[in-house]
Amino acid sequence: MDLKSLYQEILNEHNLNPTHKGVLENPTFTLRGVNPSCGDTIYLQLKIDSDGIITEGTFNGSGCAVSQASVDMMLDDIIGKPKDEALRLSSLFVDMIYGKIEDDSVLEQLDEASALKNISKMPARVKCAVLGWHTMEEMLKNGKTEGQGTAEHCSV
Ligand code: ZN
Repeated sequence: MDLKSLYQEILNEHNLNPTHKGVLENPTFTLRGVNPSCGDTIYLQLKIDSDGIITEGTFNGSGCAVSQASVDMMLDDIIGKPKDEALRLSSLFVDMIYGKIEDDSVLEQLDEASALKNISKMPARVKCAVLGWHTMEEMLKNGKTEGQGTAEHCSV
């Protein structure tokens, strides 16, 4: 399978059968991420234990295939990992999407999310691909949750 059909396949799979779509009970963080240029909205929820491990995560919302698949793959990557590792993977993903990292042996750490590599050549989709990841970064770095900061309260 070439990279282009792999990309389509993975996008379709994560849109038709998202693994992590849903609503979390008692999340540590809930944050809305919006990409006005495409009309994508996600509500990201994470539960983090006292050791700083991301134990559960879900998303909700609507938007294009890239935005929704990307956040589903992100949750595949970060659930069960410490916050610092999630942030490290996020900067790797963002660098890939902006075309700064192209080495597949490095990008394989992103697992399926590395299938979005060619988005670096599709400028109109870049903001869709990074939406979930930036929302997660904002949560973890700034401790933002419902009612704080610029993001709005999750009304799901
Ligand atoms: Zn989009």
